[in-house]
Amino acid sequence: MASKGITILGASGSIGVSTLDVLARHPERFHVFALTANSNVDKLFEQCQRFQPRYAVMVDTAAAAVLEKRLQAAGSEVVVLAGAEALDAVASHSETDYVMAAIVGAAGLVPTLAAARAGKRVMLANKEALVMSGQLFIDAVREHGAELLPIDSEHNAVFQCLPNAFTERSRSEHGGVEKILLTASGGPFRTWSVDDLQGVTPEQAVAHPNWSMGQKISVDSATLMNKGLEVIEACWLFGLPAERVEVVVHPQSTIHSMVSYNDGSVLAQLGNPDMRTPIAYALGWPERLVSGVAPLDLFATARLDFEQPDRERFPCLPLAYDAHARGGYATIALNAANEVAVKAFLGREIGFADIPLLVRDVMHQASAGTPMNLDDILIQDEESRVRSLSWIKSKKIH
Ligand code: NAD
Ligand code: MG
Repeated sequence: MASKGITILGASGSIGVSTLDVLARHPERFHVFALTANSNVDKLFEQCQRFQPRYAVMVDTAAAAVLEKRLQAAGSEVVVLAGAEALDAVASHSETDYVMAAIVGAAGLVPTLAAARAGKRVMLANKEALVMSGQLFIDAVREHGAELLPIDSEHNAVFQCLPNAFTERSRSEHGGVEKILLTASGGPFRTWSVDDLQGVTPEQAVAHPNWSMGQKISVDSATLMNKGLEVIEACWLFGLPAERVEVVVHPQSTIHSMVSYNDGSVLAQLGNPDMRTPIAYALGWPERLVSGVAPLDLFATARLDFEQPDRERFPCLPLAYDAHARGGYATIALNAANEVAVKAFLGREIGFADIPLLVRDVMHQASAGTPMNLDDILIQDEESRVRSLSWIKSKKIH
């Protein structure tokens, strides 16, 4: 079997690092074609030295120049490219077979879509890209014969629990699938009161009880916006209406999600909370690959608990369902407002409880309907960011 060329968009991040960890266990099956990062020179330099990709892309041009100098001084042959357009070039390059889409936020949409349009195996961690583009992305995958494999642990679990025949053709009948049960840890504030939630600090919000992840997704897990984005992601990935995607709070994060069938069966995927499992599954599919994840010790786990999510203390979850019901413009606004709000919260410009207020106001300003092309998506994204920034500014004045 010919070795597969891998491009990692967002190599310096949490998912990028876990992906390289899995790849390093299978040097005969995969080689790294390109690594990309926004501006983290140290991390990319170290990864280039170890994995010797053909290309390294830095979106930040000044950082690209520094990386190039350091690699040259070290006698490396890695070619350094700069700027966001270079992301699209490596993601759609003829020598790339698989693309790990692990950039955080809207910045990942264009290169991830480029990978789909080039017919690659797209391993999707960047849920924001699918939340923003929805049908447009799914159509691109179909039209260009790409493969779309979910990395998000919940969606990867669902993918593992779906019937083999869950193909485009049988999807109309859903192969007996009644519901997807997306599990949620509930985040670090699962048991906190509304009053306590007002005073949450960035340090508390980024400390997730079960998973170690990038800052943005950690805050999203604390507000439950992450689960909201995942509900929308599940609807697009699996072609189901939102009524058939239910959120179940499961504090141990041992079950990564479930599929409920019309004969009363519920299939679940269990494991330790370590992203190398879904990454290895997507890399190897339809085979399984060693991932480095320790086997699950059920006796140490001891119990599995389940609760209803609290939509009042965590209003971001119902906001996401609401946005999805309104249409594409609303989901783009939801995502953009959330990105701006999380950044402002981390920068101590707004409080934790302001996040859903800002998102709601900006989402409600989006027009009805769904954009038909990438330009319209990007315009709505930009407009929503401008509205979010003025929301923050007016709040500071009062
Ligand atoms: P992270 O913050 O650790 O890494 C983000 C990566 O994106 C970095 O490599 C960074 O250089 C790159 N990046 C940031 N801004 C960019 C820009 N403007 N242009 C180009 N590149 C940019 O994030 P993460 O935790 O690895 O998450 C990445 C994605 O995967 C997110 O969409 C997240 O929701 C999703 N995800 C993560 C996990 C997890 O366990 N970390 C689990 C499920 C899904
Ligand atoms: Mg997830």
